[in-house]
Amino acid sequence: MYSANINIKGALQDFSLEGTTFPYYDFVPRLYNFCLSLGFEPGKILPSRAFCSDENQGYLNILITKHFGTFPFNHGRVGGIVATDRHGPHAEHGKDLVIIHANHVGYDSETCSFGIYHRRHTEHFEATSSCGKIDSVLEWYIAQYAFAKENIFLHRQDNEFLVSIDNQILNENKIEGLFLHLDNIIEVESHEELRPRKAYSTSKCFEASSKLRELLGETTWPDNGRQPIGEKLLPELFGFKQHVSSDPETHGLLEGNLIPPMPWIVSSRFPLLTAAQANTQAEFDRTYRTMVNNQEYNGKRAVFISGLNIDISPHETQEFPLTTFVPWAAFVREINGHCTVLEQEDIVNNLFEQSENNQNEVDLEAAIHQNKYTQKIRFMPLDQKVDE
Ligand SMILES: [Zn+2]
Repeated sequence: MYSANINIKGALQDFSLEGTTFPYYDFVPRLYNFCLSLGFEPGKILPSRAFCSDENQGYLNILITKHFGTFPFNHGRVGGIVATDRHGPHAEHGKDLVIIHANHVGYDSETCSFGIYHRRHTEHFEATSSCGKIDSVLEWYIAQYAFAKENIFLHRQDNEFLVSIDNQILNENKIEGLFLHLDNIIEVESHEELRPRKAYSTSKCFEASSKLRELLGETTWPDNGRQPIGEKLLPELFGFKQHVSSDPETHGLLEGNLIPPMPWIVSSRFPLLTAAQANTQAEFDRTYRTMVNNQEYNGKRAVFISGLNIDISPHETQEFPLTTFVPWAAFVREINGHCTVLEQEDIVNNLFEQSENNQNEVDLEAAIHQNKYTQKIRFMPLDQKVDE
């Protein structure tokens, strides 16, 4: 999804949160009606969800059950990764098929901040990170970034603009860590040889490049003394190297998806929001290709929609979070194999055109109650032969 030759900042900004949000109680019936508009048959649609395992995603499954009339199949791995190896059984279990994929991020309406979620079932209604899995992946990268912000210094001497860099950051032989794009930072004559103005015991001082002076603005350099680069260590100036496991059950796919946009994630105001958006984009792209190229959905109607679940923390009196969905893209596969991708604006408009009322929604309380009065099934004793 992300590679070095694309404008990552632009790709992240194209995932808009303005005029694109649907509270879940509104989103799910609209999605159901969108499926009917494509010829899906009521009662024969099997939804699947690809959500994180966080319990705050449970309310969404209840709404999907209510509107589609069945508990959804499970395509979800922790961290919002799509288990694309489960397409086969999903396609076998239903006539017409839907996959709803979302990364999630907490939201605290009191502080207007993303990444935090109040846990109603903890002893003191504690706030923790959401998505916690993504938070655990980001921790190491955020620490590397924090070290670099404090250990790269800007200073002037005799009207020259200088930058001093800690030796650990400069070490290009390290197998993992934060690496600076030195071509953008210092005047480099040849890549093989860096010529410091001065070598200190734990750092080296270089002449700042004209690119860096232009990017940061010359007033960023202090008139006297030296100051850490801090927030001016912009994502265009560095990247990360880290060994990533190929096992999708560990961090694997999630971390692999997040490494290219990681400089924009760690330097963003809300890293967990930016990471959730980036992973949604990467997983939509990856999953879409499996649905086009693999055989499982051949001869089937299928809709795949990806987006962001914003978990708005519940008040103490609320049973469920007021989760909001932000679609990123959708993919429609018709019985004849014709495929269409709907970009964010297209899928948002399509959903707004649908009714928020669902004629076929299930009364879950009544359905559960009905089972109480259904005749009990008696199991045959296991040692009894069938023809007796
Ligand atoms: Zn999560």
